[in-house]
Amino acid sequence: MHSFSDSEIAAYLEEDLEATRASALEAVSVEDTSLQQRIQQIRQQMNDGEHSLGAIWRQHNLSCPGRKTLGGYLLGILPDAQSLFIRSHIETRGCLTCQANLDDLEQQQTETQDTLAARATRYFHSSIGHLSQQSDNEK
Ligand SMILES: [Zn+2]
Repeated sequence: MHSFSDSEIAAYLEEDLEATRASALEAVSVEDTSLQQRIQQIRQQMNDGEHSLGAIWRQHNLSCPGRKTLGGYLLGILPDAQSLFIRSHIETRGCLTCQANLDDLEQQQTETQDTLAARATRYFHSSIGHLSQQSDNEK
């Protein structure tokens, strides 16, 4: 029998839970009324702002934010409470896992930009090459 922590349920509601865990949770919650009630309760708490996802995390001191959330943090598109939580989680608590994840995501974003630039350059060069050697093996 699966059991789920509050932070996992919260992550699920934020659509930030790992896919296999999320579908397990969905499968269990179909039959498990007490789980349904907990989901309901946590959803309610999250809607109450006072108990934001960040507050739940802080309370239970459990889970690290998911990669998607960290990505959002990096882009600065998270609600204030959540990005505050992540900042304190990383800077105050010094979570190395999240710091590494964040570095990795930052790296990826830079690489994406580099790749786009490189692709544009390559495209430019190949069009030049294309024009100058319109050969028969083309087509
Ligand atoms: Zn962390």
